[in-house]
Amino acid sequence: MLTNDQLAEWDRDNFFHPSTHLANHARGDTPSRIITGGEGVYIEDRDGKRLLDAFAGLYCVNVGYGRQEIAEAIAEQAKELAYYHAYVGHGTEASITLAKMILDRAPDHMSKVYFGMSGSDANETNIKLVWYYNNILGRPQKKKIISRWRGYHGSGLMTGSLTGLELFHKKFDLPLSQVIHTEAPYYLHRPDADMSERAFSNWCAERLEELILTEGPDTIAAFIGEPVLGTGGIVPPPEGYWAAIQAVLQKYDILLIADEVVTGFGRLGSMFGSTHYRLKPDIITIAKGLTSAYAPLSGSIVSEKMWSVLEQGTDENGPIGHGWTYSAHPIGAAAGIANLQLIDKLDLVTNAGTNGAYLNAEMHKALGDHPNVAEIRGEGMLCAVEFARDPANRSFFEASRGIGAKIATALLAEGVIARAMPQGDILGFAPPLCLTREEADSIVEATRRAVGSTDFG
Ligand code: PLP
Repeated sequence: MLTNDQLAEWDRDNFFHPSTHLANHARGDTPSRIITGGEGVYIEDRDGKRLLDAFAGLYCVNVGYGRQEIAEAIAEQAKELAYYHAYVGHGTEASITLAKMILDRAPDHMSKVYFGMSGSDANETNIKLVWYYNNILGRPQKKKIISRWRGYHGSGLMTGSLTGLELFHKKFDLPLSQVIHTEAPYYLHRPDADMSERAFSNWCAERLEELILTEGPDTIAAFIGEPVLGTGGIVPPPEGYWAAIQAVLQKYDILLIADEVVTGFGRLGSMFGSTHYRLKPDIITIAKGLTSAYAPLSGSIVSEKMWSVLEQGTDENGPIGHGWTYSAHPIGAAAGIANLQLIDKLDLVTNAGTNGAYLNAEMHKALGDHPNVAEIRGEGMLCAVEFARDPANRSFFEASRGIGAKIATALLAEGVIARAMPQGDILGFAPPLCLTREEADSIVEATRRAVGSTDFG
């Protein structure tokens, strides 16, 4: 293997990293971390340092690292048939089988799966399908998409527009004009401290209705949301939120896209967030947990209601003008089958619910009384700790102090990877779903020490 120094130099000189401070990295001001292996919830870097990955990569390695069953399924598929396309009705045993396995697990009213490679391209597909649907129904004006501030749906042109985080818009000329944003269901930031969760949910639904009426209901095609806000801060919905939102969407005949890239396949302790929160989506976006990131694969699960209109569309216009070379890639599909089988065999959905609740409860015990902890929140195998200068008065730190990033760095020194979420001083945890209680204890203990060593003054 190349020496560490040589790799680091090649990295600085040649590699354009995503979501990275490019100048700092190219100058060598920030260390490059080169990962060489992984087993269970641990990864190992080039220096032999073992780290507990409490964010499962980018909340995607749901079954944990080093699963030989998936590696072997990928190898077998590559040897037998590495590739064939899915255009014009072609398929492989793997892609057809996986589509059936997904529908067997999805809510009953879902009908078909379109496969892509990433969460971003799946959401691009979704918006095209929504536009096509309304054109076929003779409603060419009904095209705008409502997303939420702090939502995360990808970083393409359309999906970066749907994403409601400033960093993904600034200097990119986004959002595109067809996308509008509504309030985030972020109870900690409610407009009035005395508001109950239910009252806040109703307030969010009222803001949504106001926006729809201002824009004109005939111009609004769809609403997209993650069952639990993810990258925007790991924020479970306040009580009654989804029921209140869905009532407004139904009233104005607006489609619902449930972006389950993070929540799909067990992270909340249910197979889908849609069933967990009683959503009735028209499309469900899936990616990460579909293969546990052993191979890139995503999907758009389309409801029967939409599917019948898509069929009508191709009867009237010919084949659907949408497809990627790598749609339904057999290696991704083989990884997906082995991954879903493993999730069932190890009962990881149940484990995400029980050990995720344990992680959240222990985090509360360890940090709930800390004077700078504003909130500890989570659902299933998702947990977040948010910091503030004066939690009682909801007064937060200036972003320039980078408190969240500093705590994440201190935690890394303790051997645990958490994610400093991009907007706010929020430490996010999304470990593999196979996390044990002992591993949860290690995360909590390391976090307690990292927070204890932080200067909040
Ligand atoms: N949707 C959600 C909810 C996500 O969390 C992400 C990625 O984190 C995406 C979409 C985009 O997925 P990808 O990074 O695979 O394009």
